[in-house]
Amino acid sequence: MATLELKNVHAKVAEEGGEQILEGVDLEIPSGEIHALMGPNGSGKSTTSKIIAGHPAYDVTEGEVLLHLEEGDFDDVAELPEDARTWNLLELEPNERAALGIYLGFQYPAEIEGVTLVNFLRTALNAKLEERDELLFGEDEDAEEDDEDAGYETSPMEGPADEGEVGVAEFQELLSEKMEALDMDESFATRYLNAGFSGGEKKQNEVLQAAILEPSIAVLDEIDSGLDIDRLQDVAKGINALRDEQDTGILQITHYQRILDYVEPDRVHIMLDGEVVMEGDAELAEQLEDKGYDWVREQVYETA
Ligand code: ADP
Ligand code: MG
Ligand code: MG
Repeated sequence: MATLELKNVHAKVAEEGGEQILEGVDLEIPSGEIHALMGPNGSGKSTTSKIIAGHPAYDVTEGEVLLHLEEGDFDDVAELPEDARTWNLLELEPNERAALGIYLGFQYPAEIEGVTLVNFLRTALNAKLEERDELLFGEDEDAEEDDEDAGYETSPMEGPADEGEVGVAEFQELLSEKMEALDMDESFATRYLNAGFSGGEKKQNEVLQAAILEPSIAVLDEIDSGLDIDRLQDVAKGINALRDEQDTGILQITHYQRILDYVEPDRVHIMLDGEVVMEGDAELAEQLEDKGYDWVREQVYETA
């Protein structure tokens, strides 16, 4: 079981005299659980997700972001090295964090001419696996040579599989399996990235990409925004499948309680002014629906 841990995280906008936004965020998200991160607009939810991702717009001024791994966290890794158990994510690049099992929304490749979703996803999976193995087991000295052999200079998306890569046929099978579990239409995968996806389809792609990459922890920021009820239910079904079928831990960031009717959280964290000020189970989200964030503010500042 992997655990993502934020300890007393303070962060500011990364510019001279930049505004302090996070004032001591504590969170612990284990794989296999759904955690809702709620709070009014401007409370620091998206900044928290970007700190986890390693977004360059913010500096962490105090505190830690750690990823704890255990033997068995990667199905295809026989033995996890002792020195690969705890990672200080703040020292790692965004793609390295992703390689170790942190998924941060869909890096939506809006305009890649002539690349289908299926090819994009296969490339993303292989890149992740290669980076992960480098981090866990050290440099792959053959990597550069392999890339030349594969003709990657001309077409990174269409090259034949390197040793250890997921090949076209194998990937097709994996994708079909995942799409079936998510109740997605297979024609989706053959669409071209530059042909455009609707808002709702992008959200479903976000879940599909997480299903393919099998992260330990997925951070989904406002994935419910702008979805009609049918699409919301489809997306919710996918999120539940991430947890139930591949043991992914979910940090579900949302302003509204609505999606939590379909994705029941194991734990709810409420942010206010850059801090997590209240925590509870699914019932807390329902209370919030009735009483609003003013109630939280009153509770917190009266007892403080
Ligand atoms: P939430 O996602 O909870 O609505 P955010 O994390 O997006 O909140 O923002 C928290 C606060 O930090 C807001 O007041 C916002 O205006 C400010 N903020 C966030 N990012 C930046 C930035 N890059 N530059 C300046 N202010 C920022
Ligand atoms: Mg936000
Ligand atoms: Mg696991």
